[in-house]
Amino acid sequence: REPRSVEEIRGDFPILSRQVHGKPLVYLDSAASSQKPLAVIEAMNAYYRSSHANVHRGVYEISEEATEALERARTKVARFINARQSKQVIFTRNTTESINLVAYSWGWANVKAGDLIVLTTMEHHSNLVPWQLLAQRSGARLEFVPLTPEGLLQLDVYARLLEQGPKLVAFTQMSNVLGTINPVKEMIAQAHAAGAVALVDAAQSAPHLPLDVQELDADFVCFSGHKMLGPTGIGVLYGKRELLEAMPPFLGGGDMIRSVSLRSSTWNDLPWKFEAGTPAIAEAVGLGAAVDYLSALGMDWVRQHERSITAYALERLQTVPQLQIYGPLTEELRGGVVSFSLADIHPHDLASILDQEFGVAIRAGHHCAQPLMEHLGLVATARASFYVYTLPEEIDVLVQGLRRALEIFQV
Ligand code: PMP
Repeated sequence: REPRSVEEIRGDFPILSRQVHGKPLVYLDSAASSQKPLAVIEAMNAYYRSSHANVHRGVYEISEEATEALERARTKVARFINARQSKQVIFTRNTTESINLVAYSWGWANVKAGDLIVLTTMEHHSNLVPWQLLAQRSGARLEFVPLTPEGLLQLDVYARLLEQGPKLVAFTQMSNVLGTINPVKEMIAQAHAAGAVALVDAAQSAPHLPLDVQELDADFVCFSGHKMLGPTGIGVLYGKRELLEAMPPFLGGGDMIRSVSLRSSTWNDLPWKFEAGTPAIAEAVGLGAAVDYLSALGMDWVRQHERSITAYALERLQTVPQLQIYGPLTEELRGGVVSFSLADIHPHDLASILDQEFGVAIRAGHHCAQPLMEHLGLVATARASFYVYTLPEEIDVLVQGLRRALEIFQV
């Protein structure tokens, strides 16, 4: 089958034909949240129009349809990441909730005073703060893999930290600031050899790279629907079955129980043990449609497209005077996320000019990675990020906007 053109793909995304400040929208903030194709919007719409009811409880037709829709979405996600069984896919609200689920449920059951947890300096707050909370409550220690000047993990330091026998290692597969793609398969194998459990923050990688949880041999993998063409309000925790089976519940309430008496309860089977209360059914349906859409494009194509657009962006951005790019300068080491600063212009001012004069949406700030900003000696960067619908012409508009900002600020 012929790959579809990016122009044709753009036609599937209604928002991309709108204007902002009288200019065509140039959306370069997909690392924060992606836009949604019609297939996703319509799947959710159709679900609400025809099949909505609460799940798992009703014995009437539409409740059974809603339950099937939810479970079908789970199966799609399981196939997308090559999980062995769909019960290993737990629906959460987002990556943040998935990591918190592990930190509270697995963490509190397994981590004791003096135990070591290994993280990295490039983590998003959502892969730092839950472990800080666990360490504070349990008396565990946190250590961090530092970065090379190029923005790669110092793997020699990682190896030395593993010699101390950590209980858990948790790292991102792709940095949301530097774009760095970490060698997670090797890092997981090393963690296992050292007796540690390995959690992968796949918030930035699941949308952009082929992800095979069995090939990685990851113990836990966390990601968010809204960054991979799906809706907000739905995320995934994948876990190895033995680990999930042994873990106590995270949230208590309806659906996660087998039986309840006034003073005690027993737990439902996987995955429902971890899905207390009415789930985000329409959102799961939307995520299922997103996964179908990405699978039809092919994740190899997605990666290939982003590699070429990133190579183009790196090349063009380096023609702008006084522009500094953070992270590796070769596209095979990074995903479609480019953080930069321009002269001494504040990233927020830059983002404002780009928005108002050029219709370009980029992110400015600390990107929920304040320790990484500190490591870079910055408080904020500007960040442009790309996805399946990004065109080289949009990079040209960005570059034009950056040159205009230099003129406005006369630097
Ligand atoms: N980890 C990384 C690497 C991210 O980029 C993000 C989102 N910016 C998150 C975690 C958190 O995702 P969410 O806000 O959807 O929970």
